[in-house]
Amino acid sequence: MFEKILVANRGEIAVRIIRACKEMNIRTVAVYSEADANSMHVQLADEAICIGPAPASDSYLRIDRIISAAEVTDVDAIHPGYGFLAENAHFAEVCESCNIRFIGPNPRAMQALADKAVSRALAKKAGVAVPPGSDGVVDKEQDALAVAKRIGYPVMIKAVAGGGGRGMRVAHNDISLVKGYHTARTEAEKAFGNSGVYIEKFIENPHHIEIQILGDHKGRIIHLGERDCSVQRRNQKVVEETPSPLIENKFRKLRDKIGKAAVKIAEVAHYTNAGTVEFIVDAHGNYYFLECNKRIQVEHPATEEVTGIDLVRYQIQLAAGETLHHSQGDIQFKGHAIECRINAEDPFDDFRPSPGRIEMYYQPGGRGVRVDSHVYAGYTIPPSYDSMIGKLIAYGKDRREAMDRMSRALGEYLITGIKTNVAFQQAILQDPNFRRGVYSTGFVEQLLGGARRGLIEEKT
Ligand code: ADP
Ligand code: ADP
Ligand code: MG
Repeated sequence: MFEKILVANRGEIAVRIIRACKEMNIRTVAVYSEADANSMHVQLADEAICIGPAPASDSYLRIDRIISAAEVTDVDAIHPGYGFLAENAHFAEVCESCNIRFIGPNPRAMQALADKAVSRALAKKAGVAVPPGSDGVVDKEQDALAVAKRIGYPVMIKAVAGGGGRGMRVAHNDISLVKGYHTARTEAEKAFGNSGVYIEKFIENPHHIEIQILGDHKGRIIHLGERDCSVQRRNQKVVEETPSPLIENKFRKLRDKIGKAAVKIAEVAHYTNAGTVEFIVDAHGNYYFLECNKRIQVEHPATEEVTGIDLVRYQIQLAAGETLHHSQGDIQFKGHAIECRINAEDPFDDFRPSPGRIEMYYQPGGRGVRVDSHVYAGYTIPPSYDSMIGKLIAYGKDRREAMDRMSRALGEYLITGIKTNVAFQQAILQDPNFRRGVYSTGFVEQLLGGARRGLIEEKT
């Protein structure tokens, strides 16, 4: 087993990884930007090295500086967390060439799933359905029009390198397609350094259902069930839960089918370590492959709560060369888990980010409640990174108990000095359709539309 791991990330996920290392008696090295000197991950790690100024491009994305930090501190391995360099195959290769183990999938699997268009092709090869769309990248306007004509509007123009809900737009006719096609390419070039886009049928109000997988170097792959992440705002996840109410209430056979499809894709990609295969599911229970997240995900704790498996510990063990400790039949699901992403943002001002100093901070606790966060009273949230400041996870013997516990916990959460989405999360948890488990990716827009109408009615 490794003796020392460098955590190439910040925020709650850096804290999460350091916690796993401590429980495994592995020493840790934190890297941080000048803006993060007071972050909890710096204080919890055994050693910490500043790798540059606040912008990620000058710090958390600097491969040279991270590798220097790893060499100076003589670590055996690097955990990349999520975002930043986590899915960068080049970074993984640089680590290996410096004799530092990269805690993530092998470079070959990362290449096989390099971007969304390549992954679509791989899913097809694995015999898994993808939304109707283009074969790979669309280089010409005429080709975009031809694909749209074939599959019918509405369509989505998606950046092959997109992520975090960014880099996609819907087109309803030829005019908006042509306009969107060029804008999407320019934006993708700016945001991801890759102008490649592809076209996919826009599925109306689908469900986002994803499968957690684990693979070892012997080629064995298992899945740890699904997470339903359909509560989204602007294609970004807000609440995640497992099991999926859609599967539980409507399509019981889907869990096994999607689970097997995810494993098949991972097998074709020769996948190793932890990953997630994402699908969208339409109202009839048809499922389509969306993309593969080649890393630990934000919402991994939900799966940990119902399976009793520590996914970060497993990542470290698999990277160290251990084989899977579980067969598919060993994976048992017990109870229900819900995760709410807690963001520093103002729900009353179009969810504008709200960085700044946290004055008072009291986080909920008690039975079945877990908080993964790097913040504390007196901590200043820098404006340079995303607005997520923590995750609240509630576990219960069934969905009802998990929801009641989540509501109770949200009610206890006290954060002053900045704006947060805690009250908005509470509104979701109180919504009758959410309570019934009847929601799709259109849910948040409907909820916000209702709230807007409510405000207007109050005024008049
Ligand atoms: P998950 O799929 O685990 O729910 P998200 O999609 O919310 O995670 O992304 C996790 C983090 O990674 C976020 O901070 C997000 O902004 C970032 N991220 C993911 N993919 C990309 C990408 N291609 N480019 C930039 N940031 C990304
Ligand atoms: P990202 O890399 O940003 O996570 P994804 O391809 O995983 O991008 O899509 C994120 C979300 O965008 C999905 O969960 C879904 O809500 C929406 N979406 C993506 N593709 C489609 C599609 N073809 N039809 C309808 N919604 C889609
Ligand atoms: Mg995704």
